[in-house]
Amino acid sequence: MQKLKEKKSFLLDQREKKVKEQLSRIRHKLLVLSGKGGVGKSTVSVNIAVGLSLQDFMVGLLDVDLHGPSVPKMLGARDLKLTRKADGKVGPIKYSPNLKFVSIEPLLPSEDSAVIWRGPLKISAIQQFIGDIDWGELDYLVIDAPPGTGDEPLTVAQSIPDAYAIIVTTPQEVALIDVKKSIRFCQKVKMRILGIVENMSGFICPHCGKPIDLFKKGGGQKLAEEYGIRFLGRIPVDPRIVDSGDAGKPVIAAYPESPTAKAFEELVRTIVSATEEMKRDVEEGRYMRLVVPIKTPREIEPDPEKFDLFAVYDIENGKILVKDVVKKPEKQDLLDFLREQVATHILLFDPPKELADFFTQNGIRVLITDTTQTPPDDLLKEYLEEKRKQG
Ligand code: ADP
Repeated sequence: MQKLKEKKSFLLDQREKKVKEQLSRIRHKLLVLSGKGGVGKSTVSVNIAVGLSLQDFMVGLLDVDLHGPSVPKMLGARDLKLTRKADGKVGPIKYSPNLKFVSIEPLLPSEDSAVIWRGPLKISAIQQFIGDIDWGELDYLVIDAPPGTGDEPLTVAQSIPDAYAIIVTTPQEVALIDVKKSIRFCQKVKMRILGIVENMSGFICPHCGKPIDLFKKGGGQKLAEEYGIRFLGRIPVDPRIVDSGDAGKPVIAAYPESPTAKAFEELVRTIVSATEEMKRDVEEGRYMRLVVPIKTPREIEPDPEKFDLFAVYDIENGKILVKDVVKKPEKQDLLDFLREQVATHILLFDPPKELADFFTQNGIRVLITDTTQTPPDDLLKEYLEEKRKQG
């Protein structure tokens, strides 16, 4: 029995490793989330992906929305089949020279039936599905996540921990409550939020094609300001979105001159600059995810052999946003663990040079302390204060 158990966990380890290898060759991952279904998450995902590809980026679009996998339909590509390669990996479907996509749709029982897999099966199916795809090199991977804040989006978020979240909402109050849930969800899984998109904001007249302020708009923007999150843009209600979605040609490509396509283009440009800004924030130290090996919450662990408990801090513009204490699974490799935490920095007590070099070479910057007496919270506050003084 013991053996069987070990084998099973070995298989799980292998799968997680595979997921990570596959995803490491992608520069930016964007996880498109919504607090509930029907707000236009898939529409936004598809138009962002097509929009990015029209700007000559190499783009992948992954549809993991088990409740309504609509990407193949929206791309008019339902007849294109996935190919399984000799090594067992799945080759994504080529939509255009620089846009590939994969949908979970073919794995589901039938178009309209709700998925009846039981929880754990669903979770491992999602993981396997993500890990089996060979994307190659990509500039952007856009992921259409399952709606809500339950186990399914959670699995997707945990499988792709270094993705940035794009939260799609509509302007109504009720939808905004869901946005707050999505923000909390991102905080819980420690996913950085790229920003909020307000869909169905304003109205494009089906007769004259001009914008009309019929519905409420601006709620998403207000909320973004309140939470200090970027507002990425708004997309109007436009009947052509439905028609073009049904006809399998996303509006951004089908009606490039329309105000809606222009709104999507603007959104894509904002997303490109926001993702680059997020990367620069890390490179220039405005954002840090700092991991500190600890013995107890108030004491740094000095012995690398004993690293298993970690305080994880999210620091933005000199402020500690979130702190969490995480235990590393016994068998997990330390570097794997740090990657899973999307660590940018590690704080160590007087580390041997080889250890510090090891982290640096693997893209994790090392902060060094010469005391184990000061609690990490205080050390960090001193460090941030010092940095602030230096400007
Ligand atoms: P979700 O992925 O959030 O469930 P979808 O993208 O599938 O939502 O959109 C739900 C429906 O609303 C679809 O029929 C889609 O064509 C339509 N829709 C989405 N955004 C707009 C919009 N801005 N204007 C008009 N219809 C829209």
